[in-house]
Amino acid sequence: MDAKYWMKKSLKDLTQEEWEALCDGCGQCCLFRLEDEDTGEIFTTNIACKLLCHETCTCLDYSHRFEIIPNCLQLSSENVAKLSWLPRTCAYRLVSVHMDLPEWHPLKTGRSESVYQAGISVKGKIISEELVDPEQYFDYVVDWWD
Ligand code: SF4
Ligand code: SF4
Repeated sequence: MDAKYWMKKSLKDLTQEEWEALCDGCGQCCLFRLEDEDTGEIFTTNIACKLLCHETCTCLDYSHRFEIIPNCLQLSSENVAKLSWLPRTCAYRLVSVHMDLPEWHPLKTGRSESVYQAGISVKGKIISEELVDPEQYFDYVVDWWD
């Protein structure tokens, strides 16, 4: 891949390899979010989708995820800009507005651990949806990345 290809191309022009490499593996997009019906405000929780691996922060069944979790969202060059709840550090969000990647991104450091070391990864901070009563979801709202 070209050095700093994310600064030279728009999202829609990336190859599949370039697209996949952009993901920093933070796992933040796999957390439950709650929406205030009155105000539309979105709250992030530390409740993770049941398919998220707590160790690697990757999907345990990426190729079948839509069959298992029908509301898992496919990011695309068309929808990234419309997803206001995407983390502000999400590489797709940054590149969609022609911003550079942060210094801790694996494409810059060459190490996936740099995401955890920068405090961006959800590793060690999450609980599986299978362990939480839906009535209690608001108790798990976090502001770590605000
Ligand atoms: S928030 Fe963005 S960068 Fe982080 S895991 Fe999700 S898609 Fe990848
Ligand atoms: S199915 Fe996989 S990619 Fe989709 S939200 Fe769950 S863990 Fe994340």
